[in-house]
Amino acid sequence: MKTILVTGGAGFVGSNLCEKLLKNNRVLCVDNFQTGRKENIQNLNGDFELITHNIQNSLKINENIDEIYNLASPASPPHYQKDPIDTLKTNVFGMINMLDLAKEHDAKILQTSTSEVYGEPLEHPQKESYRGNVNPDGIRACYDEGKRCSETLCFDYNRQYDVEIKVTRLFNTYGPNMDPLDGRVVSNFIIQALKGENIKIYGDGLQTRSFCYVDDTVDALIKTMNTNKEFTGPLNIGNPGEFTIIELANLVMDKINNGSDLEYCPLPSDDPTRRKPDISLAKKELDWSPKISLDEGLDKTIEYFEKII
Ligand code: NAD
Ligand code: UDP
Repeated sequence: MKTILVTGGAGFVGSNLCEKLLKNNRVLCVDNFQTGRKENIQNLNGDFELITHNIQNSLKINENIDEIYNLASPASPPHYQKDPIDTLKTNVFGMINMLDLAKEHDAKILQTSTSEVYGEPLEHPQKESYRGNVNPDGIRACYDEGKRCSETLCFDYNRQYDVEIKVTRLFNTYGPNMDPLDGRVVSNFIIQALKGENIKIYGDGLQTRSFCYVDDTVDALIKTMNTNKEFTGPLNIGNPGEFTIIELANLVMDKINNGSDLEYCPLPSDDPTRRKPDISLAKKELDWSPKISLDEGLDKTIEYFEKII
């Protein structure tokens, strides 16, 4: 049985990951509950321990750790923009602290970076080799540049100290355990539709995103951790199905027929126009591709929100 440390384990993706890892591992969940929720972890079964800690501070663990998954970071634009300097500190100081921990324990470490490293992409779909087009001075930069720096730190710890790293770039993920107040598009639309409120589209709604169901994302993360030592990434993890935001709104309204209308609101600055992962590398390295369609994943996510709101 391995001992696996998951930072951000009380968050949306982290709690789904903990649940899967607990089937045959001991799991140490490190979280400061900035955006995570006790409800996400309170019913987890198995050898689970919660360590309430801010990863911006160094962490000592008095037992052997085999693997670290670093997910701690606010992820939705309203959350990461609320205190942008704190977001940068989590992604830079937090990454350094977790890499130091990995070095001390001779543990493998997986970083959850993001498709946001591609910024407003000039290449479509985005391959890992694309270096991106991020505005370093904009309101999304605290997250985008924080994650870019976290990737650099991983590669420098790998080259300088031989720490075994796995850098993944997650594209928009959705599913059970999302926080209803998170502000991301899938949760917002489902909640607005369930309440019979208008569905609020930012901008003209023609911007695209590619949505991956969380079980597929978690499977890919675990498979990435189990690749051979030479495989460092970066690796795209996402579902290449590409939808406009209006298409997503219509899908949700078809499933929840509560009299909602579309309402158009201003587009936040630097909101990427389109985004779609090229997942050829994940197919080759992990023998993985997403199994759950947006149609099926939305049904499961709606079922979750119906229970909790
Ligand atoms: P989330 O906000 O639900 O979870 C993040 C978790 O990290 C929360 O439990 C939060 O309390 C914790 N956290 C934040 N700052 C911390 C700190 N300084 N110390 C300790 N804990 C801290 O977000 P999520 O959607 O589950 O995302 C998880 C990771 O995946 C994030 O790193 C995010 O950047 C990355 N990611 C997510 C998506 C997505 O669509 N969900 C896409 C790309 C990348
Ligand atoms: N969006 C929207 N209505 C909402 C929330 C988001 O139209 O209530 C849009 C947002 O402008 C963006 C897309 O949906 O173009 C995805 O937003 P989200 O915050 O989920 O993820 P990200 O922009 O980080 O990909």
